[in-house]
Amino acid sequence: MGLIDILLARAKQGHRTIGYPKNPPVLPELFQGRPIVRPELCRSGCGKCADVCPTGAITLPTHIKNPELLLFATSDDAGGGDDTLSLDVGRCIFCGECEKVCGDKAIEFTKEHRMAASSREALKLSGETYEMAKALDKKALKVFGRSLKLRQVSAGGCNACEADINVLNTVVFDLGRFGIQFAASPRHADGLLITGPVTKNMELALRKTWDAVPEPKIVIAVGACAINGGLYAGHAETRSGIPSWLKVDLYIPGCPPHPITILDGLLRLLGKLDE
Ligand code: SF4
Repeated sequence: MGLIDILLARAKQGHRTIGYPKNPPVLPELFQGRPIVRPELCRSGCGKCADVCPTGAITLPTHIKNPELLLFATSDDAGGGDDTLSLDVGRCIFCGECEKVCGDKAIEFTKEHRMAASSREALKLSGETYEMAKALDKKALKVFGRSLKLRQVSAGGCNACEADINVLNTVVFDLGRFGIQFAASPRHADGLLITGPVTKNMELALRKTWDAVPEPKIVIAVGACAINGGLYAGHAETRSGIPSWLKVDLYIPGCPPHPITILDGLLRLLGKLDE
């Protein structure tokens, strides 16, 4: 193929990289985004949502856990405070079963792709508000803001999260245009992007990789397994997610998270998105 053919093929193909974040993302019809939990709509108090949840992501208020108290429940019990219906999106695998069994429509999955958060607490949803991921502090942004190199560690992952991370390097998402790249060696990295429930067999490798990353360094958890163990939480051969000896700077929920959700989280961390 000569140069002219290459140029013609290029002109025919046009611009393949998506317009996000300047333009809204185009998401598949079946995409399940951030759920909205409306405790005030939960009137039947059946608890079926928690029963069907395979990851224990749903917490019921006391009067539902103890149905005999339902008689004394008030609208305040259903609508506010910590003792309320909530969904931990960090544990959620987005199977949608809770939404299906809820006759009160107290849980609804939306098309909202923005799901990354800066703290574990922020992933526990109740009501319509959501605290989105914050940018790193000014000092860290000075170091990482224009060039972030990440070492990916699959700590027992099934390869679903890894595939959706990999796709960010394609011409469609073109992660490199934001100054974010994956490094082959932890010694060349600014931090770790971890997937998988952290199996016992991988914990030592994870620790050694972390130790090899020079300071200052960050940790990004991608997917329900890395955040909380996902379907493997509590399994004897896993650590149920990233162990407490690592401080996580960014949580990206999903099973696996859509590449746009991952990209959105990374851009927020670097202060390149604020709405
Ligand atoms: S969608 Fe999430 S919260 Fe609902 S049942 Fe499935 S795993 Fe549980």
